[in-house]
Amino acid sequence: MWGEWMVYINGIKCIKCGACVGVCPTQALTLTEKGIVFDKTKCINCGACIQICPANAISKE
Ligand code: SF4
Ligand code: SF4
Repeated sequence: MWGEWMVYINGIKCIKCGACVGVCPTQALTLTEKGIVFDKTKCINCGACIQICPANAISKE
């Protein structure tokens, strides 16, 4: 599926809590030592990661 927007993760704001990884239904997000890695080919634009992020590090782009 391909939506009209793309998830953008602000690596400076991200506190690497992993909440977005747990909530993503398609495993589009992975937590690494460098921060969150986003796989746009898996994202279905559900917006769940944006809602859950406690640091407001995820936005639509
Ligand atoms: S918008 Fe939904 S599918 Fe896309 S990365 Fe966030 S939680 Fe995963
Ligand atoms: S929920 Fe937000 S702060 Fe937590 S790992 Fe994901 S992007 Fe980073």
